[in-house]
Amino acid sequence: MDLKLDAEDLNTCVSCGLCLPHCPTFRVTGEEAHSPRGRIALMRQVHHHNAPVTDEVLDAFSSCVQCRGCEPACPSGVPFGRLIERTRETLADERIMTSVWQRVALKSLAWPALIRFGSLLLAFAQRLRLVPRRLGVPAQLPIRRAPLVASGRDVYLFTGCVMDAWQRDTHLAAQRVIEAAGFGVTPTGNLAPCCGALHLHSGLARDTKRLAARMIAKLDDQPILVDSAGCGAAMKEYGGLLRTDEARAFSSRVYDIQEWLAQYVERLPRIEPLALRVAVQDPCHLRHVQRVHNATRTVLQPFVKELVELDDDGLCCGAGGAYSVLQPQMADKIRRRKLASIELAAPDIVASANPGCSMHLASGGVETLHPLEIVDRALREA
Ligand code: SF4
Ligand code: SF4
Repeated sequence: MDLKLDAEDLNTCVSCGLCLPHCPTFRVTGEEAHSPRGRIALMRQVHHHNAPVTDEVLDAFSSCVQCRGCEPACPSGVPFGRLIERTRETLADERIMTSVWQRVALKSLAWPALIRFGSLLLAFAQRLRLVPRRLGVPAQLPIRRAPLVASGRDVYLFTGCVMDAWQRDTHLAAQRVIEAAGFGVTPTGNLAPCCGALHLHSGLARDTKRLAARMIAKLDDQPILVDSAGCGAAMKEYGGLLRTDEARAFSSRVYDIQEWLAQYVERLPRIEPLALRVAVQDPCHLRHVQRVHNATRTVLQPFVKELVELDDDGLCCGAGGAYSVLQPQMADKIRRRKLASIELAAPDIVASANPGCSMHLASGGVETLHPLEIVDRALREA
């Protein structure tokens, strides 16, 4: 089967295996088919030798978290993210992958009113104890959400889809911190309802391109700050996805909110730090894809008594967008390693800059906040 892969991308892998210890699924199972090298070998078999897409091959591709921890570890620069995205896209086009219910659920993300309504139903169901905790939905979804109000036009704050419905408080805190640094903020709201990251991971690249083109047309010249690492990573890659000058110019205006604030942290008031020991969990799409995870330390350092690092070298937590819903057993096994690292660090709280990681860790019993929620708390308490 023609997986529509770039031959050069596929040939770059020299099968050295240096990426294996950085792959969360290989760490869990120890199986070659669950490693980057094994997955690339299977792509070659299917693409070059027309090998059949058996259940085992499909499992190898669908069990990948798309964390891209293998990319910075690879001395040959294999673009594994692009390989797995294209593979999944071809398999989704052939209807071998991505079920109808997944497609319907993903389509709904472009409709904010539908998400708000669904979230409200879920919030009521939670209060009637009808939502199992293992689903990873945040405890006590809000029935009412405080409005996000524009305070100026210096920067956009991208608010997105599910995060805005479930974690509006993170956006509110992020906006207050950016305002405290002296900038006027325009929350994007209905201007840009969804970034399309989850669609891309599921092989629905056409949907992502549609959402990207719509967002590019709506958001004019200001910097676009993103407080979800997964969304920010996807938006920074619109240039490569759409391959237009307009998309490339758009992507160059996208910043993770901490990456952007790190340049202006001196503008925030000097205050007594919070008496907290905070462990930093680097979301994969901040560390391996955007590669701006050090900004989390720069932004948090002045506002907390102690910052501690986890001992796992940025290994994935298993959240992976919708991965924890689609592959719950593997996601749980991957999370156990992260929970052990957190337990060893013994923090009061964990800072995580990605909503999916926060929810996945919270459903494992860990208290998490976005780094800017911690800064906001420090500023408010002062
Ligand atoms: S993206 Fe993550 S899970 Fe997939 S092969 Fe690479 S390291 Fe392993
Ligand atoms: S992906 Fe990179 S690190 Fe992994 S086996 Fe291939 S060349 Fe080696």
